[in-house]
Amino acid sequence: MSQKLKVVVDKAACCGYGVCAEICPEVYKLDANGIVYVDDEIVPEGLEEQAREGADACPQFALAIEPD
Ligand code: SF4
Repeated sequence: MSQKLKVVVDKAACCGYGVCAEICPEVYKLDANGIVYVDDEIVPEGLEEQAREGADACPQFALAIEPD
C-alpha cells in the first residue's frame, strides 16, 4: 500500500507564477487572484510524482508534500 501524501500550501509565500498549476493542474488550482489553492490536500493516487514535481518547481517554496 502506498503512503498517502498531503500538500501543505503557504499561501502567503505564493506569488502566483502558476508553475505548479501548469505541471499538476489536477492538484494545484489558482484562484481569481492567481494564488494557489487545493480542493483537497490529499494527493490523489497516481498523481504523487506530478504533485511533487509541481511543488519542487515552485520558485517561492510555497508548496510542501508531506506524508499524511
Ligand atoms: S508555483 Fe508557487 S508561487 Fe507559483 S502559483 Fe504555485 S505555489 Fe504559487
